[in-house]
Amino acid sequence: MAIRKLLIANRGEIACRIIRTCRRLGIFTVAVYSDADARALHVTLADEAVHLGGAPATESYLNIEAILRAARLSGADAVHPGFGFLAENPTFARAVTEAGLIWIGPPPEAMEAMGDKRRAKLTLRDIPVVPGYSGEDQSDEALLTAAAQIGYPIMVKAAAGGGGKGMRRVDSAEDLLEALEGARREAAQAFGDPTLLLEKYIVHPRHVEVQIMGDRHGGVIALGERECSIQRRHQKIIEESPSTALDDDLRARMCAAAVSIGQQIGYISAGTVEFILDQQRNFYFLEMNTRLQVEHPVTEMRSGFDLVEWQIRIAEGATLFELSGGFPDPLELLTGHAIEVRLYAEDPANGFLPSIGTILAFDLPDADPELLRVDSGIQTGDAITIHYDPMIAKIIAWGETRAAAAARLDHALGRLTLLGLRHNAAYLRRVLMHPDYLAGNIDTGFIAHHPELLADPVEPPAHGWIAAALAWREQRGAAVDGLPAANWRSNPYRPERHTLRAGDMKGQVALTDRGGGRWTVELNGTQHAVQAAHNGAGRWQIGVDGHRMPVVTAVDGNAIWVGVSGHSYRLEYVDPLPAGRASRESVGSLRSPMPGQVIRVNVSDGQAVKQGDVLLIIEAMKMEHRIRAPYDGIVTHLRYGVGQSVQAGVILLDLEASDQSTGTT
Ligand code: ADP
Ligand code: ADP
Ligand code: MG
Repeated sequence: MAIRKLLIANRGEIACRIIRTCRRLGIFTVAVYSDADARALHVTLADEAVHLGGAPATESYLNIEAILRAARLSGADAVHPGFGFLAENPTFARAVTEAGLIWIGPPPEAMEAMGDKRRAKLTLRDIPVVPGYSGEDQSDEALLTAAAQIGYPIMVKAAAGGGGKGMRRVDSAEDLLEALEGARREAAQAFGDPTLLLEKYIVHPRHVEVQIMGDRHGGVIALGERECSIQRRHQKIIEESPSTALDDDLRARMCAAAVSIGQQIGYISAGTVEFILDQQRNFYFLEMNTRLQVEHPVTEMRSGFDLVEWQIRIAEGATLFELSGGFPDPLELLTGHAIEVRLYAEDPANGFLPSIGTILAFDLPDADPELLRVDSGIQTGDAITIHYDPMIAKIIAWGETRAAAAARLDHALGRLTLLGLRHNAAYLRRVLMHPDYLAGNIDTGFIAHHPELLADPVEPPAHGWIAAALAWREQRGAAVDGLPAANWRSNPYRPERHTLRAGDMKGQVALTDRGGGRWTVELNGTQHAVQAAHNGAGRWQIGVDGHRMPVVTAVDGNAIWVGVSGHSYRLEYVDPLPAGRASRESVGSLRSPMPGQVIRVNVSDGQAVKQGDVLLIIEAMKMEHRIRAPYDGIVTHLRYGVGQSVQAGVILLDLEASDQSTGTT
C-alpha cells in the first residue's frame, strides 16, 4: 500500500519539511491552510492546497471535520499531523483511519497511554519515574499531604500538560495552594482537564531524551539521545546530540529503557521518551511524546536518516531492519555532533515575550546541507501573528566535535538577516559561545543563572548608523537638516543632517556626498571616510575608514531596521518638525504588551494596590503575562474584563499614584 498523496495537517516549518521529503520520495502533497496562511510558504511548496477556515487554530488546524473534508476533496490517501496541533490527538488518529486513510503516526491506544503524564507513570513497568504523587484524589488536602511526604521543593504539573503549561516549582507548603489554583486554571484552559500530579523537584537537572522508532512488526529501536537542557519556561531553545552528560554505559541503559517503553505500549512510528537526569546521573522518566519532535533534525544530522521518510515507510509496512540497512546496533551509525537552535520571534531581555509583526527581511546564506541545515516555514513579507507559535526557523549544525558544531552554528547566526521584529538570534549566539556552554557545563537552570546574557546591545556600530541614514534618504529623498531637499534651495556643499535614535541613544549623522559612492560622514561629532554601495533590496556594503561590512536595512514607517553581523537593531528617525504635542509616555506596564485575552482580573475600580501587585493576567501566544502595578496607587478606571480581547498597546486600566510614591526625592 504505497502512499501516493499525503495531506499534511499542519503549517509552518514542519509542513515545509515534510513536503521536502515527499518530493524526494515522489509523493504528492496536499497543504491545508487558514485565512492567515493563504500565501504561506507551505501552501506554495505543496502540490495542492485546501482552505480550512479562520485564522484561530480551533477553526483551522484543530478542526478535524475540515481536515477530513480536505482529504476527501483532494483524494489524499494518507495524513501526516506534523507536531503540535492534532499530532497527539487519538480522536483525530481514529477519525483518519475510519475515513479509510493511512495515519502516519502511532496507534491511538499508544497515544492514549502516554498522553496523560499521570496515567503514563501508572502504566509503565520497571522504568524509573520521578518520585511523586499520581493519585486519583485531587483535593487540596490530598495534594498538601502528598507534597509533605515527597518533600519540598516539588513540581506541580498538569497531567495532560505539554509545552511547559501548568507547571510550577513550589518551595514550601505556604505557596502550594496558590500554585495548585494557578496550575489547575492553566490546565483546564489549555487542555480542558485540571488534573494535576506532583513530582519531586530535581535540582539542577539535565533534560536528556531518547528518539525511538517502532515498526508494524513489533520492532522498536533507539536512535540515540538528545540533550535539551537549555530551556526557558521549561521549553527548549537549544538541543544537541550526543549529550555531554552520558557515557556509553548510561546511554545504553537509557536507550534500553526507552525501547522497553516502546515495546510495553506497542509503539509504531517516531516517538521520544523524555528523561530527567539528576546530579548523580540517575535518570527518571518524565513523559513520552508520541510524535515527531521539533528537534528531530539533530538525530537526522548525526544518523543521515530522514525520520519523516521512516515514518512514511513504516506506515506502508517497512521493517526497521530494512530502513536502517540491517545494522545490528543503530547507535553505531551516529557520528559527530549536532546542535539545533530554535529561532523565535521573542525578546530575551523582556522575559522572552513573543513579538509579533511582519518579517521585513529574512535570509540565511547557503551552506552545505550536510553541515548546516535550515528548517523554516517563513519568507520575507510573512507575519508572525498571535494565532500560532512564534518559532521562525530551526538552524542545525553538524561538526566532527561539539566545539566545531557550535562554531559553525554561531557563524551561521552571524550571517543571518532577520529584520522587522525582535528575535533571539543574538541571544542564542551568546549562549553557544559561553564558556560554560562550551564546556558542557549545563543544566535546565542555565538561562536563569545567566541573566547577564539576556540583553542585546541597543546601539549599532558606525556602519549601522550610517547605513540607516543612507537607507532613509534613499527612501524619502535627500534632505537638508532632516527636511526634504525640495523645501530648500539645493546647496551641494551643505551636509545633510539626520537624527536617528536607538533606544535612548541618539545618532547625529551628517552626510556629505563626494560622488562615486564616497561620502564624508560625521557621526556624533567624529568624521569618517565612507564608501557605500547599495545592491538593492536593502543590501549594502558599507566601508568606514577602510573597514567594510555588509549591512541590511528595512524602512518601516519611522523605524529603520538595521542588520549587522547577525544582530538586528531598531532605529527610529527623529522627525525635525515638532509633531505637535509630544506623545506622553504612559506607564508601559499598564498597557497590554501584545494582543491577547484577559484571563484574570484581580482588582476593581477604587481599589488600592501596592507596587508589584498582579493586577491582570493576559494570555497571549500561549503564555500568561502578568500585569503588575508599577507603583502604589488606586485603580481609577478598569477598562477590560475577563474574556475580553485586547490589542497591543491599549491601556488596560488607569492607576492613580498614591501620594507617598509620587514624591521625587
Ligand atoms: P512538557 O509536557 O511541558 O514538555 P515535561 O514534563 O516534559 O513537560 O517537563 C518539561 C521541563 O520541565 C523539563 O525538561 C524540565 O526542565 C522541567 N521539569 C519537569 N519535571 C521536573 C522535575 N520533576 N524537576 C525539575 N525539573 C522538571
Ligand atoms: P533531501 O531530503 O532532498 O535529501 P536535503 O538533504 O537538502 O534534502 O535536506 C534534508 C532536509 O533538510 C529536508 O527534508 C528539509 O527538511 C531540510 N532542509 C534543507 N534545506 C532546507 C531549507 N532551505 N529550508 C528548510 N528546510 C530545509
Ligand atoms: Mg516534555
